[in-house]
Amino acid sequence: MSVDVKSNLLDVLSRIKESEKNAGRKEGSVKLLAVSKFHSCDEIISAARAGQILFGENRVQEAAEKFNEIRKVFPETKLHIIGTLQTNKVKKACEIAECIESVDRIPLLLEIEKQCSKLEKNISVLFEIHTGEDSKSGYTDLNVLRESLSMFKEGKFPHILPCGFMTMAPFTEDENLVRKSFSRLRKISEDMKNEFPDFPLDELSMGMSGDFRIAIEEGSTLVRIGTSLFGERNYHEKKELS
Ligand SMILES: *Cc1c(COP(=O)(O)O)cnc(C)c1O
Repeated sequence: MSVDVKSNLLDVLSRIKESEKNAGRKEGSVKLLAVSKFHSCDEIISAARAGQILFGENRVQEAAEKFNEIRKVFPETKLHIIGTLQTNKVKKACEIAECIESVDRIPLLLEIEKQCSKLEKNISVLFEIHTGEDSKSGYTDLNVLRESLSMFKEGKFPHILPCGFMTMAPFTEDENLVRKSFSRLRKISEDMKNEFPDFPLDELSMGMSGDFRIAIEEGSTLVRIGTSLFGERNYHEKKELS
């Protein structure tokens, strides 16, 4: 049951293009983040060989082990951290990632700034927003989000560039609930762009294997796709290995 990553990649890219077209979006306005969590270096390298540069992982340790190897072959690969980030993992996350998509609290921003300042490195972040009933992660209080952005405005995070927003829709067959979650993120992003015009908050990271068409219709600029590229994840087996 080996998976042909290259043909999956071509298929996903053409589905993204078709969705852009059907939604009246500009061609090339939606980027693909290949979510490679629980998949091997070999599988990731197959995707890189087929031209994919942007990858997402949700566990920092796993990501560091894999991408330190992969970058020996493909130094241009870029990594986004997309999973809930514990403060004690921030140092390593800042060492390996170009973007942290799962910023959900002010103390996390303070730690990212601290570590990036030590590394003399700039990093991009997205604010993860809680928009769906059964996801547990993300900002729930928009006033805390406003407070975070105000701190950027005050110059408290010179090594961090806020680029936009991320969300996960609820896992449900109900397309309306999924759509509501995405349109809520877009509305929040528009409100925040009006309130904080100093920052390029244009990135909208939303849409996964099962719902990216809807996300693109609702304005996604970055879809995070794992299963459709690499096949099902085998959580059990990988857990025993690590
Ligand atoms: C795993 C994961 C994805 C990819 O999900 P698929 O359904 O496999 O495409 C996207 N976003 C986040 C935050 C994830 O943890």
